[in-house]
Amino acid sequence: MLVAGAQDICYPYWLAERTDEETGEIHKPRSEFRLAICGREVVKDRVQVYRHDSAVGYSGLMRCGNVWGCVICATKVLRRRGDQIAALFDAVHGDGGTAVMVTFTASHKLGDDLRDLLGRLKDAIRLMQRTGSVARIVADRSGLVTATEVTYNERAGWHPHSHQAWFWPKGEMPDCEDLASKLFPYWQAACEKVGLNTLEHYKGRRVGVDVRRAWDASEYLTKWGRERDWSLSAEVTTGRMKMGKSGSLTPWAILEDAIIRGNQSEAADLWIKYLRGTKGFQCISLRGARKLLMHYDLPTSYDDWKDANDAGEGEVIGSVGAESFSKVVKAGGLGRLLEGARSGGLAGLDAELQSFNSHKECCHGLT
Ligand SMILES: [Zn+2]
Repeated sequence: MLVAGAQDICYPYWLAERTDEETGEIHKPRSEFRLAICGREVVKDRVQVYRHDSAVGYSGLMRCGNVWGCVICATKVLRRRGDQIAALFDAVHGDGGTAVMVTFTASHKLGDDLRDLLGRLKDAIRLMQRTGSVARIVADRSGLVTATEVTYNERAGWHPHSHQAWFWPKGEMPDCEDLASKLFPYWQAACEKVGLNTLEHYKGRRVGVDVRRAWDASEYLTKWGRERDWSLSAEVTTGRMKMGKSGSLTPWAILEDAIIRGNQSEAADLWIKYLRGTKGFQCISLRGARKLLMHYDLPTSYDDWKDANDAGEGEVIGSVGAESFSKVVKAGGLGRLLEGARSGGLAGLDAELQSFNSHKECCHGLT
């Protein structure tokens, strides 16, 4: 329901048919957003319906890999990143090391372009990291994980920020307050260079650079998970506007609102701006933790598209041919098919499949 709604919103945004000048190949009109066809196209000739614990799902479908905006891909990929990050926390803590959560934010106002803000934020972080004095401050740091998050506020517009987990080896634990106050001047200087402003404190708490201790991975994950709705499942499907802390909206809340209010709504417009604004940006990066992950023999890859398209594990209940599957897609029956497989196994899957086929035949008979 949520997935179908999210895909419908993408549909008015078509890229026109075009002919490749070199090959002469004609590209049919398609939605500007790949997530519009996520899970609707069969990669090979059949689609498998599988069961994993209590969940049922499809494999063998093209997945868009957009963790910013695709409900399915975000759930799948972010769960995997969560596991990777948790394993890293466990390994560091098991070795007597420590972790802190560092959040970088900059000022913004209503009407600022999201893509522009995200680009500047990324540049400011890179500039700051290259500063010699900052390199000295974090000389003992053994690795870091970064996650970029975007929220929206009706008064102040888009609010992109970076949540990072920094790791320290045994005996090198930094003082959070000291680290934040040492970093802030360099963060401010980096922000100024890219045309952003930042504040050290707002209403008595640190905002530009905030550092706090992370005792375990869940503290880090829930810090931005709360705003991101890490466990999407039940909450997001209830279909009500959710306000995050201090009146800011999560992207998923914007999406819900857009689905409820329709394609012409302000929320739908915001959602499209969000999709355009985040396109091409990495949401979670394990790049800074590469050496540390290797040290602990943990996987270092974080390719969203690959992980979204990974078949995963589970028991195959049955499979559906590409042609039958596309009939089900056109009839909007993806959920019903899964429900049949969940409750009745292969027989249930078959029964649902039959109903789609006979329905089609019946329609043909009438025309
Ligand atoms: Zn997707």
